[in-house]
Amino acid sequence: MGTLSVVATPIGNLEDITLRALRTLKECDVIYAEDTRVIAKLLARYEIKKPLQRLDAATELKKASEVIARLEAGEHIALVSDAGTPGISDPGTQLVAQVRAHLPEAKIETIPGASALTAALSIAGMDMGSFTFFGFLPHKKGRQTALKKVATSEIPVVLYESPHRIVKLLKELESLQISRVTIARELTKIHEEVVAGALSDVAEHFSAHPETVRGEFVVIVAP
Ligand code: SAM
Repeated sequence: MGTLSVVATPIGNLEDITLRALRTLKECDVIYAEDTRVIAKLLARYEIKKPLQRLDAATELKKASEVIARLEAGEHIALVSDAGTPGISDPGTQLVAQVRAHLPEAKIETIPGASALTAALSIAGMDMGSFTFFGFLPHKKGRQTALKKVATSEIPVVLYESPHRIVKLLKELESLQISRVTIARELTKIHEEVVAGALSDVAEHFSAHPETVRGEFVVIVAP
C-alpha cells in the first residue's frame, strides 16, 4: 500500500521549506500539484526532477480515483498546492477525504511547513489564544451573512484576501463598525509589511500608498 504525503511549500521565500519536505519531494514517485508550472520553479531551485501531475480545485475529485489506484499499486504520492499548506483555502481536502473513505489502509502523512495563516498570527502581536479562520469570504452569495459573522465575533477573525478586493473589504468592514485590524501583506517576500491599528487609519494607509495594494493579504479583525 502506498503513501500520500501532503507537503507544505513556501508562501514566498523559497528557503521556507523543510528538510523533510525536500526529501519527500525527492523520494516520491510523482507530485500532484495545483499548478505544475509553479511547483516546477521550486523543484528547479532544489534540483529535483520528478514527474508532475495537475490536481487543482476543478480536477481534484476526478483525479482522486487515479491517485487511489496509484496508492493501491504501492506508489508514494506527494501533494502540493501553489503555496503554503494544501487544504488551507487550497485543494487537498477532497482528495484526502476520498483516500480515507476508499482506501483506509493507505498511509496519509502531513509534511508540515509554511502557511500564511500561522505566519501572520506569529507576528500579529495580538492575543491569538483563540480565533476563527474564515479563509476567503464568498464574493457574492453569502457575503453579507459572512461579514455579519465577522462583525459579531467575540474572538479575532482571520481572513485571506486578494489585492483586487482588499480595498472593498476594508470599506465593508468600516461600514460594520469594526474598529481595529491587522493586515499582513506579502509575508516572507521583499515587500513584507504589517499594518495594524484603527481600521480608518489602516484604510487611509492603503489609499495614501496605492503601490501597497498589491500582493497577498491576511486580514486579522479584532473582536
Ligand atoms: N494554502 C495557503 C496557506 O497555507 O496559507 C493559502 C492559499 S490561498 C489560495 C492564497 C491566499 O493566502 C492569498 O490570497 C493570501 O490571502 C494568503 N497568502 C498566501 N501567501 C501569502 C503571503 N506571502 N503573504 C500574505 N498572505 C498570503
